[in-house]
Amino acid sequence: MEAVTQKNGLFACPRCGKVYQLYHSLQRHLRVECGHEPRHACPNCGRRFKHRFNLLAHLRNWACRKE
Ligand SMILES: [Zn+2]
Ligand SMILES: [Zn+2]
Repeated sequence: MEAVTQKNGLFACPRCGKVYQLYHSLQRHLRVECGHEPRHACPNCGRRFKHRFNLLAHLRNWACRKE
């Protein structure tokens, strides 16, 4: 993933097009966000979370229950 387009002094993600002011921020995005689909899915409602603790908190609150 080396192709980084720069528009108006901004750095655009070559994968998703998200734009960052700092190259460092784009690097972080590529490393920890982009391409990492939220994979922790709630067994009740199917909502997906990037981090396991988000899912655990969601389950603890039963936020997915509509009743
Ligand atoms: Zn991206
Ligand atoms: Zn849920």
